[in-house]
Amino acid sequence: MATEIGFIGVGNMGGPMVSNLLEAGYAVRVYDPNKTAVDACAAKGATTASSPKDLADQVETILVCLPTPAIVESVALGEDGIAKGSMVKTYIDLSTTGPQTSVPVAEGLKGAGILALDAPVSGGVIGAISGSLAVMVSGPHNDFGHHRPMLEKIGKNVFYVGDKIGMGQMMKLLNNLLSGTALAVTSEAVTLGIKAGLDPKLMIDVFNASSGRNTATETKFPNSVLTRKFDGGFGTGLMFKDIRLCLEEAEAQGVTMFVGSGARQAWSFALNKGSAAEDSTQIIEHYETLAGVKWPANDS
Ligand code: NAD
Repeated sequence: MATEIGFIGVGNMGGPMVSNLLEAGYAVRVYDPNKTAVDACAAKGATTASSPKDLADQVETILVCLPTPAIVESVALGEDGIAKGSMVKTYIDLSTTGPQTSVPVAEGLKGAGILALDAPVSGGVIGAISGSLAVMVSGPHNDFGHHRPMLEKIGKNVFYVGDKIGMGQMMKLLNNLLSGTALAVTSEAVTLGIKAGLDPKLMIDVFNASSGRNTATETKFPNSVLTRKFDGGFGTGLMFKDIRLCLEEAEAQGVTMFVGSGARQAWSFALNKGSAAEDSTQIIEHYETLAGVKWPANDS
């Protein structure tokens, strides 16, 4: 019989991960308050639960992929949370929550006899669909080894980054500081270039053949910005959350981040001018408005 696992939070990232686990032969039981998201998983063969506790009464291992630290905390430790379940033994957090959440949540779960592993992911919706995510795991090594085959079904690159809870989350925040800074500064550079008369497509080609290339120039601009589709699949609210969490860790550890502070301001600006739900690649629209730049021009 197939091993049954639980999955909570089947949105942009969690939904495709559930598909890959089902395809790999796992029986997956899901919970999400969004009925449309649950129905999409059920159509692929997943079974459902009525709450995190209900799920934790039925499976030994639960993966979560949730949007905010507060939601992670309530799903794990709240009134109807995982900690109240009678069968669950292991909780694996694929969300980006930062050590400030994952450490106390793991402590709370430990009190209920449940082991926690950090396993935040990178690679976006495309990586989640193709099963090629990078997964950054921390927690007891033997438990990681036990769950590694399952994690390899959602990510081709599964890294064990340390035995302490919080280390996987720290690694992920550093990654997103770099990727969020690259997207913001590339948007600034391209806006200036357009105002000075350069062609945006040509600029991206030049960057990608030169030392200015980065994940924004290689992927996000060609796929989502130059096409004006703005469909990267990573919300501005999530980007701001990750950079804010990283800067809070830096302050807590006494590490100065000049460029990181600028990136935090850039994402706060995008959030205030736009919304949490808009795609993070839309940050360039706010720079364009500020600079009085319009691309493509109406007549092009
Ligand atoms: P999303 O908003 O698309 O999905 C989150 C899901 O959680 C939704 O289906 C929502 O209904 C569900 N949810 C909300 N409250 C809930 C609750 N109380 N109980 C159960 N489910 C609840 O977000 P996403 O883009 O899938 O991101 C999820 C996590 O993965 C975030 O922590 C994000 O930072 C991280 N992440 C996202 C990406 C990306 O490209 N989107 C990449 C790497 C990591």
